[in-house]
Amino acid sequence: MRGAPDGPEWAEPVQHRVMTRCLNCGAERDTDVCEACGLNSARAELSLRSKLLNRTAVFLLGAVALVTASERYPALDLDGILIFTGALFFPALCLAIWVERRALRHQEVEVLKRIYYGLIPIPWLLAALLLANGAFDTGPGHVVETRVVGKFVMRGPLPNRRLVVASWREGHTFERILVSSEDFDDFRRGDRIVVQVEDGLAGIPWVGGVRHPN
Ligand SMILES: [Zn+2]
Repeated sequence: MRGAPDGPEWAEPVQHRVMTRCLNCGAERDTDVCEACGLNSARAELSLRSKLLNRTAVFLLGAVALVTASERYPALDLDGILIFTGALFFPALCLAIWVERRALRHQEVEVLKRIYYGLIPIPWLLAALLLANGAFDTGPGHVVETRVVGKFVMRGPLPNRRLVVASWREGHTFERILVSSEDFDDFRRGDRIVVQVEDGLAGIPWVGGVRHPN
């Protein structure tokens, strides 16, 4: 069909937009209607935006799953995990917004889109790792006795309560242990505290519980 020399219908000005790849399927295109998926540029843009929205919802749910998993089996190095998640989360959302903006302007999005889609499973994988690390941990773990040196509450959409205790690990000064509100209220600064430390199936140590010494 392309390159047909005559045929007045091809002489009519089509609404042609400069675009090298289809926003829907990523196929290279030089006409308004993609030969690979049959969508014109307007419908391809709609399709891309709805996919972006759906995958962003999957990504956000993954972040919620990760936070839930980290509360269920709180890793000793939870802060590192949360910092990593935050460092991934905000640039990923910015990337999604950037892809959408570029799509609105009918600019090339294929590479950015693939990077974004590649980031989406990461919170789910981390959540699965933390869940498996705790749920399938059959090791005996061990108890350590230490002292509460501080307490703090992080409020906001994902509130969490921490008991700051003197660390028993080499190279660490404090541990910020995630606890329930009951445990949080039960301990005061200066109290002795017994921490049940589990080794973790994947070698990520986590806290099985806290109690007062007998
Ligand atoms: Zn297409």
